[in-house]
Amino acid sequence: MSALHDTDPQLASLVDAERRRQFDVLRLIPSENYVSPAVLAATGTVLTNKYSEGYPHRRYYEGQQVIDQVEDLANERARQLFGVEHANVQPYSGSPANLAVYLAFLAPGDPVLAMGLPAGGHLTHGAPPSATGRWFDAVHYGVRRDTGRIDLDEVRDLARSHRPKLIICGGTAIPRTIDFAAFGEIAREVGAILLADIAHIAGLVVGGAHPSPVGHADVISTTTHKTLRGPRGAMLMSTAEHAKALDKAVFPGLQGGPHNHTTAAIAVALREAAQPDFAQYAHQIVANAQALATALTDRGYRLVSGGTDNHLLLVDLTNKGVTGKVAAKALDAAGVELNFNTVPFDPRRPFDPSGIRLGTPAITTRGLAPQHMPQVAEWIDRTVRAAADGDESGYADTAAQVREFLADFPIFGETA
Ligand SMILES: *Cc1c(COP(=O)(O)O)cnc(C)c1O
Repeated sequence: MSALHDTDPQLASLVDAERRRQFDVLRLIPSENYVSPAVLAATGTVLTNKYSEGYPHRRYYEGQQVIDQVEDLANERARQLFGVEHANVQPYSGSPANLAVYLAFLAPGDPVLAMGLPAGGHLTHGAPPSATGRWFDAVHYGVRRDTGRIDLDEVRDLARSHRPKLIICGGTAIPRTIDFAAFGEIAREVGAILLADIAHIAGLVVGGAHPSPVGHADVISTTTHKTLRGPRGAMLMSTAEHAKALDKAVFPGLQGGPHNHTTAAIAVALREAAQPDFAQYAHQIVANAQALATALTDRGYRLVSGGTDNHLLLVDLTNKGVTGKVAAKALDAAGVELNFNTVPFDPRRPFDPSGIRLGTPAITTRGLAPQHMPQVAEWIDRTVRAAADGDESGYADTAAQVREFLADFPIFGETA
């Protein structure tokens, strides 16, 4: 950082401000985390200087003596940790990783079955504005109105009638365990490739806090920066059978040179995730989410599906007299960072929906525990009620309380 301060003090001060902000607020966006100093260090290395189109030992540029070892190491650690036959750590992020799966197995116009965006799916699961929705024939499943859970009967019926080439399970706002075995059965019945998109829950899977899709899914995609707590990036994993098709789709199908500094940081994150304390971390994420769910329910909040099995909560604020966006902005002013989100069957529009989405990966990294969740719920409740009344006067005071509370929770041993 001292080089940055010398060369570009303006930019350096922005980074410092963001560091400070991340220290001072309750970060409850369920797709975010704090990476370790080692992961951070790996992203800031000279590996960023190197081009290495191709794969280890089969490159289009010379000088790969070291880079090949870095990527081999990342691949080997991914295979070990997830228990898969093949891993590709080159996708730039989760969205291109998913696009590579389409490219590997589908032609334009082919049918795809995935969870709809309003129900908790991802843009890249064939949502209309996404390339995947424009170029493929996407059919979507949702959740049951009465349970807020995935309707596997609907999935099976849609699979039988539409004969998709690709079925996707997983999403961005699913608070419940995904039944990979059931999806695998449906995919096999209709002869579809099953993609398990575990972007959100990869850390829970490797930590043993969520079942693994290995053995049920043909392909697994994940980001590396959510619960897995690595750098921004992604991985594709599969059986040996699909290795070649996936690799070709990533390069040269979609991408040029891999981001080697990111590959290095992924390797570090995978090493960290293989330590016993990471399993503890994964289970603590879930314990915290469940404690927060209980504390919010006690205060009259309606949780989609009635609770959570994983790291995230989806809250329908309709009975609180405030929209998701108004609540999220108020909470941001009060030092509680989360995002507004559609809830299933939301009558409101996506840019100002009825719900908020929050989760515990980042605050768990910081060491918050279930006994702290009633206090977190109290800050949320206080602010949501004030937002409903249009009373902004208490936000700064809440933000100060949050800041004072968090001062006792260093991030990887570091204080602000
Ligand atoms: C986050 C996410 C992605 C995309 O990741 P980006 O890195 O933001 O492109 C894909 N699928 C799911 C389910 C996600 O949650």
